[in-house]
Amino acid sequence: MAREEDFDANLAGEEGQSEETKQSWFKRIKKGILTSTAEKKETPEGLWSKCPECNYICTVTELRENLFVCPKCNHHHRIGSSEYFEILFNNNEFEVLFEDIRSKDFLNFTDLKSYKKRLEETWAKTDITDSIRIARGLLHEHDLVVGCMDFEFIGGSLGSVMGERICRAIDLCLQERLALLIICKSGGARMMESAFSLMQLAKVSG
Ligand SMILES: [Zn+2]
Repeated sequence: MAREEDFDANLAGEEGQSEETKQSWFKRIKKGILTSTAEKKETPEGLWSKCPECNYICTVTELRENLFVCPKCNHHHRIGSSEYFEILFNNNEFEVLFEDIRSKDFLNFTDLKSYKKRLEETWAKTDITDSIRIARGLLHEHDLVVGCMDFEFIGGSLGSVMGERICRAIDLCLQERLALLIICKSGGARMMESAFSLMQLAKVSG
């Protein structure tokens, strides 16, 4: 029963767990498919996805083969960094960089819950460590660094970690003369880091 509810909630793009998550101030847009990150890699047969635009129902495998574009109406489903990396890099082979940089609760910020708790819950829920992942791999013959934001991680919000990872990616690309691609899908600055978020613009520009 709980599984069925979660399935419905997934189709609607909600977490489908506690009331608290449903009412969080960062309301998730009721669009797109959301399978948990662990399930994305090897999609079990028979998992279905419904297009939020035209209600066309197909298997997630079929959707994946069509690069997450609805086969019927061409609607582009929301995807995360894993899917982008899979689409871009040869044979889905890439190295994820700067994963050890993690957010801290500098300001002891609390909204509905403390920022520290929010971070810990998000880390437990997903296998991504912040709202951007940097990966290096080959796209055809080109050595490429890709920074891809994940909306799933606190709305893809820009905090100190995202700023630092982008800067390190730029430095690496300058040093080794690599191409850099940044896929932006952010919900804005992360208010829990306040001025630290705002400083990232100056840092990245520098
Ligand atoms: Zn559609």
